[in-house]
Formats: sequence, C-alpha cells, structure tokens
Amino acid sequence: MSYKIGIVGTGYVGLVTGVCLAEVGHTVLCVDIDAEKIRQLNSGHPVIFEKGLAPMLRRNLDAGRIRFTTHLETAVSDSDVLMFCLPTPPGAGGAADLRAVMDVAAQVAGLLKSLNRTHPLIVVNRSTVPVGTAQKVRDIFSAQAGDSTVYVVSNPEFLSEGYAIDDTMNPSRVVIGTSDEYPATVLTDLYQPFVQTGAPIFVFDERSAEVTKYAANALLATKISFMNNLSEYCETIGADIDQVRLGVGAEPRIGPQFLFAGLGYGGSCFPKDVKAIVNDAEQHGVALQIVKAVHEVNTRQIHRFSQRIINAFGGSLQGKTAAVWGLAFKPGTDDIREAPSLEVINALIDAKASVRVYDPEAHLNVKKIYGARLHYSDDHYDAAMGADVLIIATEWPMFRNPDLPKLRELMKQPLIFDGRNIFQLDKMREHGFEYHSVGRPSVV
Ligand code: NAD
Repeated sequence: MSYKIGIVGTGYVGLVTGVCLAEVGHTVLCVDIDAEKIRQLNSGHPVIFEKGLAPMLRRNLDAGRIRFTTHLETAVSDSDVLMFCLPTPPGAGGAADLRAVMDVAAQVAGLLKSLNRTHPLIVVNRSTVPVGTAQKVRDIFSAQAGDSTVYVVSNPEFLSEGYAIDDTMNPSRVVIGTSDEYPATVLTDLYQPFVQTGAPIFVFDERSAEVTKYAANALLATKISFMNNLSEYCETIGADIDQVRLGVGAEPRIGPQFLFAGLGYGGSCFPKDVKAIVNDAEQHGVALQIVKAVHEVNTRQIHRFSQRIINAFGGSLQGKTAAVWGLAFKPGTDDIREAPSLEVINALIDAKASVRVYDPEAHLNVKKIYGARLHYSDDHYDAAMGADVLIIATEWPMFRNPDLPKLRELMKQPLIFDGRNIFQLDKMREHGFEYHSVGRPSVV
C-alpha cells in the first residue's frame, strides 16, 4: 500500500529516507527549518554528497512523489506516518541533546489540537535517542494533542554514510519498537519493499529498540578502538597490526569488518552515541566500563597521531608546509562532523604549519570553518606541492595508488604520516619515502 509520509528533519538521514520511500512509491513531504536547504532540494540539488542520491532525488521530484517544505502543518495534517529525523547532538556530559525532538513533538501536538485530524497519526522516531525518549514524546502528545490518536514508535536508523542509499534500499534489518498492533502493521507494510531479500523486520518493545541502536554503534566503535589500542602495542613491539588484523579477522567468530586500525573514528554518530550510552547508563546507575574505554582510546589515538607528526619536527612546524589528503570523516561522504582530520589540522595550525588540504567532497564544509587559514587544493597532487609532510586522514580510493615518483618530486621532503594505512611498506621504501603509519613498523 502507498502511504503519505512526512519527514521532519531533512539532513543525512531524513533526505535519504525520504528519497528512498518515494522511490518505492510513497508520497513524501520533507520538512526542515533550513529554508535555503529546502529551496535547493526543490530545485533538485541534493545538498549533501551521497552516492546515487542526486539522480534518485531528481527522478522522484519529476514524478511528484517527493516535495520539500518549511511548513510543518501540511505534513501533520496530511501524513499517515510522520518520521522524526532530527539532530540529537551531544549535550552536557555527553548526554544526547533532545531539544529538537521535544520541540518538534510539542509543535506537532499543538498543530494536531487545532487541525482536528480524524485518522490516527503514527509518529516514528528515527533519530538516535536514549531509552525513554519515545515515552517522553508520548507524554507530550497525551498532554497537548487534544483528542487526536497518536502512536509513538521507536524505529532507529542504521544507515551508514557513503552507503546510505544501499543501506536504506537493502537494510540488514528493520527494528520497530512498539507494543501497539496498528503501527507495527503499518510500518511492517511500509518497509516490505526494502526487505525482499529476506532481511528481518523485528518488532521489539520500544526500550529495547532504543537501546539496540546505541548498542550497535557502541559495539562497532569497540572493534575499532580495540584495534587502535592494539596498534600502539604493535608499534612499540615492532609488530604489524595489518597482519594481526588478517589473522584475527579470519576467525569466523570475529569476522574481518571494522578491524582496521587508524587515527581514530569520527563522524556524527560513533563519538556522540558512545558518549550518550555511557551517560544514559550512568543516569541509571550502571557503569558501561568497556564503552567508556572505547571513547578514551579513540581520543588518545587521534591525539597520539597528531603528536607523532609534531614530534617529527621537534615540536614546531614554523616555516613548514603540511599537506592533508582527506577531510571527510570517512570516504563516500562530505560529512566532517567530528572528523579526525580536523583535530590533526588544529594540531598542525597550533604548531604553526602552513596547511594545504584536499578532499573530493568535503572541502567546502571545511572552508566554512577554517576560511583562509588553510589552502584548498583542486587535487591531491596540488595539495602535496612543496609539502614537508603529507598526512593521509581519509582513505578515499583515489589516494590509494598515487604516482609515487611524481609525489616525491612535488614534495619538499619525502615524509608521509598515513592515518589510514593505505600504502604498502615496501612500496614506500622502494620510492624513498620516510613513512609512518598506524600500528606498523615505520619506514625510515
Ligand atoms: P543532520 O544534522 O544531517 O540533519 C538534521 C536536520 O534536521 C537538519 O537539516 C536540520 O536543519 C533539521 N532540523 C533541526 N531542527 C529542526 C526542526 N525543529 N524542525 C525541522 N527540521 C529541523 O542529522 P542526521 O545526520 O540526519 O542525523 C539525524 C539523526 O539520525 C540523529 O539522531 C543521528 O544520530 C541519527 N542517525 C544518523 C546517521 C548518520 O549517518 N548521519 C545514521 C543513523 C542515525
């Protein structure tokens, strides 16, 4: 069945969700407070970089299945399902800041009271939120929405930036948190086109659904921090973390994914979600010791990597030029929220370096923060021009096979700090680079 869907919050999650729902035939109205974003989206410009998004947006705009607006009222009056894809950034002490979710819930409740809707509204929370948020939202509707029938459901989003369209069209699972039959039936029907390959749709109680999202991100971050922690050990004892990774990842009970050591995780999810689940558990008197350590290891790893670069220059990069390849928190996105590259850049600036940067998608977002403090190159070779050190911060595929003789010629000194282990040690040795990576022996 085709549904009318309202999406509130048209960012990385809301936009992809909206476009994918339109693609399978639903009528979607996306709402956002950012009027410029809405204007661009209505003219077919996707605003964010995500593989496959632009043509899908255009196709569904042309077919009239998706529209964008700043007016919440239309979405509230017309939708069968209203999805909250709102930001939940880190607040005090790492707790998720729920103001956007609560504000919108209150606005929707106020609108419902004046609109006198006759059919039930399903409010779906796709933002990542602490346990009990669905109940808090429900309390707002009970107190303020008059006689309208509203079901509040937790339905966490598991998409991964860079693969967001594919993750949404072919999810590994769908988690619906509700004890009510009506929203469970509607949402199961809504998601059917996405699970044709047999991916499960789990209907959980809402608290378990809320915890599932945090638990998944915390466990993925744990794998990364475990390997990053081990990388320091490997560096110290002269072992190679990549060999260790292959050896342990071949064990079926462990698996090969998320075992790559690097300069630390970033992005809009892992850092904030790890802190938020620790904080939420603490509020309930439970110490999540492992997850707490995951955050500490990550903070240390990013700092340690920056420090290794600064130390190579005796503590100051005055008069030196540093090139940074990759700014996005990972390849495939223009998202720079909590990107490790930014911490490295800050350390380089503090150490008085001139910094030249290149990223195929994220440089405009970085420019909004750093302005004229950085030189923004049009390609990665230009960034390396005259550099005393090259730093790899994001493993974009285009960086993996550079013309090494050309790179050596362009750079002032053949010195590379690779935070993503994208080059082979013997290749670096062969081409005369001094090469430092993460958890592997240095080539000097
Ligand atoms: P985002 O910042 O990209 O998008 C949020 C959007 O909401 C923005 O466009 C903003 O303008 C809009 N907004 C803010 N307040 C509003 C309001 N009062 N009314 C209408 N619109 C409003 O965030 P995101 O990355 O899409 O994340 C949204 C949620 O999904 C977060 O809770 C996040 O943790 C979770 N999540 C994100 C990802 C991811 O990879 N980005 C994956 C899974 C879950």
